[in-house]
Amino acid sequence: MTDGFGRKIEYLRLSVTDLCNLRCQYCMGPEGVEKRAHRDILSHEEIEEIVRAAVKLGVRKVRVTGGEPLVRPGVADICRRISAVDGVEELCMTTNGLRLPELAGELRRGGVCRLNVSLDTLRPERYREITRTGSLKDALAGLEAARAAGFPPPKLNCVLMGGINDDEIPDFVALTEREPVSVRFIELMPIGPCREWDRSRFIPADAVLRAVPALEPAGGDGVARLYRLPNGRGTVGLIRPVSDHFCPACNRIRITADGKLKPCLHSAAEIPLRGLHGPELEAAIGAGIMAKPQRHHLEAGSDNIRNMNAIGG
Ligand code: SAM
Ligand code: SF4
Repeated sequence: MTDGFGRKIEYLRLSVTDLCNLRCQYCMGPEGVEKRAHRDILSHEEIEEIVRAAVKLGVRKVRVTGGEPLVRPGVADICRRISAVDGVEELCMTTNGLRLPELAGELRRGGVCRLNVSLDTLRPERYREITRTGSLKDALAGLEAARAAGFPPPKLNCVLMGGINDDEIPDFVALTEREPVSVRFIELMPIGPCREWDRSRFIPADAVLRAVPALEPAGGDGVARLYRLPNGRGTVGLIRPVSDHFCPACNRIRITADGKLKPCLHSAAEIPLRGLHGPELEAAIGAGIMAKPQRHHLEAGSDNIRNMNAIGG
């Protein structure tokens, strides 16, 4: 389906939980989030029904996200149901990777074709500091488990934070020299706890090109501008939601774990989908697509009232 500004909407980001086994400083408070009652989040059947309706309206790609999707009990069954929907051409997941040693095989068999793994640092003490609770060793074990389960090389998502991890840009880029991985640097967005952070933490993704001038342009991939080291096996992606909004190319809608459609990440608008079926459900999703604003105005602050863990990034 095409929205009011001529954009073809083909991509659904679906959050399956707000909960997480980490407490990344920019994403949530140290106390984590209050657990919702089971009945307050979408069931496996409701998720399948929503995906079927979205596919009828033209969605072709689904990304399962969270919170941390791998802490949702039965996440592999959810993936199996989504990938079995006729018309879903691509099912991906964004995860912190910690539970991949237990789940990678089941996810692969459940039809997940690609993983994006979030990794903001390659240094153990810093990983613990940023995530408050996590261990880099576990995240790396997750990446290894994904490889062993037959997943293609993952996209590594690294949120750039001035004075926190920007000194590691060359180390992340170096990973792409030897391995066919795709490292994607994402600009920190002023949402949730980091809304109050010092301006110096928010740095443009162009800092990557200044830190590693050898990078050469290598085209684009959706919202990322791609670069490559001469003879590098992998790619470096820059995702600039703040310094260069990619709204004209936005092809996505988001659905929260409690069943609200969010037409735009940075807007407070939400359309409740629970309790709707058949043509009513399709009409509500269609209305959500038509409610997509032309662009966000992040420079004036995000209107979104949820933290990232409650939207899905
Ligand atoms: N728990 C999973 C993970 O971390 O990959 C999936 C959910 S997480 C909310 C999705 C993505 O959003 C992660 O890559 C995370 O780094 C990113 N994210 C969270 N808060 C952000 C912010 N304020 N600015 C930019 N990216 C953010
Ligand atoms: Fe959890 Fe992902 Fe948020 Fe980190 S960014 S706290 S891993 S939901």
